[in-house]
Amino acid sequence: MGFGGWGGGPMFGGGGRPGAPAAPGLPFGGIPSELQDGVDALLAEEPDHGEPDLDFSQHQSAKERRRLSLRGLLLEYPRMLVISTILVIVTSVALQAGPKLTQLAVDKGMTTGHRHLSVVLVIAAIYLAFVGFTSITQRALVKVTGRLAAGVMNDLRVKVFSHLQRLSLDFFTAEKAGVVMTRMTSDIENLQQLLQDGLAQFAIQGLTMIVITVILFTTNVSLALITVLLVVPALVVMSLWFRVASERGYDRVRDGIANVMADLSESLHGVRVVTAHNRQRFNIFHHRNVVGEYRDANIYTAQINAVYGPGTQLVGWLGQAALLGIGGEMVVHHSLSPGALIAFFLYLNRFFAPIQLLVQQYNGFQQGQASVLKLRTLLSSEPTVTQAPDAVELPLIEGEIVFDNVTFGYDPDVPVLRDVNLRIAPGETVAFVGPTGAGKSTLAKLITRFYDPTVGHVRIDGHDIEGVTLDSLRRQLGVVPQEPFLFAGTIRDNLAFARPSASDAEVAEAVRAVGLTELVERMPEGVDTVVHERGQSLSSGERQLIALGRAFLAHPRVLVLDEATSNLDLQSETRIEAALDVLLEARTAVLIAHRLSTAMKADRIVVVDNGRIVEAGPHAELVARQGRYAEMYAAWVNHSEHSAEPAAS
Ligand code: ADP
Repeated sequence: MGFGGWGGGPMFGGGGRPGAPAAPGLPFGGIPSELQDGVDALLAEEPDHGEPDLDFSQHQSAKERRRLSLRGLLLEYPRMLVISTILVIVTSVALQAGPKLTQLAVDKGMTTGHRHLSVVLVIAAIYLAFVGFTSITQRALVKVTGRLAAGVMNDLRVKVFSHLQRLSLDFFTAEKAGVVMTRMTSDIENLQQLLQDGLAQFAIQGLTMIVITVILFTTNVSLALITVLLVVPALVVMSLWFRVASERGYDRVRDGIANVMADLSESLHGVRVVTAHNRQRFNIFHHRNVVGEYRDANIYTAQINAVYGPGTQLVGWLGQAALLGIGGEMVVHHSLSPGALIAFFLYLNRFFAPIQLLVQQYNGFQQGQASVLKLRTLLSSEPTVTQAPDAVELPLIEGEIVFDNVTFGYDPDVPVLRDVNLRIAPGETVAFVGPTGAGKSTLAKLITRFYDPTVGHVRIDGHDIEGVTLDSLRRQLGVVPQEPFLFAGTIRDNLAFARPSASDAEVAEAVRAVGLTELVERMPEGVDTVVHERGQSLSSGERQLIALGRAFLAHPRVLVLDEATSNLDLQSETRIEAALDVLLEARTAVLIAHRLSTAMKADRIVVVDNGRIVEAGPHAELVARQGRYAEMYAAWVNHSEHSAEPAAS
């Protein structure tokens, strides 16, 4: 059964890949041999990403997901972790050899009684060797942590993305899409920063402080005590203040820039409305305020930085002055060597950088931790529609659909559908009509198991769809949404979306069946023409035809079709109706009809109102019954005498 009759279209030109790109100019003669070597070398170096190792069974993934922590992520790469730890230790220790060597050179080679050029030269050479050594270890460290970060980020991105693919539709509300994008961009970015540079630096600076403290105490205890007691408390107090203040400041900066971007984007997207309502002046005024807040936030953080940076330097200089006095006195009384005093000075300088860096890195560290936490929350959201552990394959179906006492609400406490009982026979075309928000689309979503009923069951050929595997169910269902979504790729890719393995002949058949021939012939490269982002280069009628072709090619037994509400020109309308005739032929079809002209051609019309089925039957019967449908129909007939076709919903 269908809409009656096949909509004939012009025949599509034969098998083979129609319209394959015919490159202008000379025929392709292969890669010249001298280039081929280079290509081989390149290919040999290409990393092998292997088969994607994805597991869609929910049970294991739940266990996996719980593990998400910074430590857990890093431990996936134990070898690199060990290497980078060793490199961090070696680097932080080796970096501190300089002042100690200077001390030796001064005391053993430059002071009265010890003037030995050879000693100075040997120590200078050793110094040079250390410089070379640390530059090598630092390079290795950056390389290893870079690889580590890249690996961890890659794993995380795949993990989050595959989790998103696994989640049920209720997760993807418009509001959540923004959150997900933030997780995938800024949160993962934060982590990348932290892993690539932050963690290693954090460790190096921390270790450096410990190493310097140890060296200071082994060089001269009393001087070390003076240094530590004078300098460290002042620095700690300042750093604690800075951390709190800068966190507040950066929060304000982040909010500020977010507001600026939001305001900008709103003005750009709404530019027509803005112009039409003469809001330009007001918008400038508003934007000035938003930008002003951002400026104030930046001024605030600049002020904090101005206090902290120079402030810590001041503490350092004061420390040095005290050291010069006290240490100088010790040198005069021979209780300290001049070399040791110089070493102290040098170490003192090196003491500040780590503290300042640690404070800065700490912010990054906290942001990274916060990001891990947010990602963990995202990863621990469970799909609501899950496959039962004992789910069976749905065998080839005839296409009988039964709603058995179904009640459903997106929020279980607020039912959207109530006590729905309906049987759709195999091969029948049923149109759902009713006011907007009545629950028509929701009924359709239950058939495809985008959601599960709160009460009752949906059965296909007698199988409760909650008991069959999701794959085997959805393989036999076709869905054509109201707004067809085209993916980046060629027309062919989009047609063969559900069955990428479809042969050229099958694609050609689909093109012919839904009446896309004319469009395809008009395209420069036929079905291999790349459609622009979301098919914006095609008309909405053409996009719908492609969506119908996609459904045709998938050969579903049951088709769920949300009729497009957008107004099409008469010609597109006729073509789509013809395509529907072909598509609905000999399969069960559920049609969410927004136009009565479409609905009245179905085998049966089901009137949905406020979550209940109020009437069901063929067009003529319902009109004769003088109920809700007859009312709608009368209104439509009345209306269409005055204007073009009205919407049914
Ligand atoms: P129709 O297709 O008849 O216009 P729907 O089935 O789309 O109606 O919607 C029925 C009711 O469910 C409406 O009140 C609508 O607001 C609500 N609804 C639809 N989708 C969602 C959703 N994803 N989350 C929460 N409520 C929803």
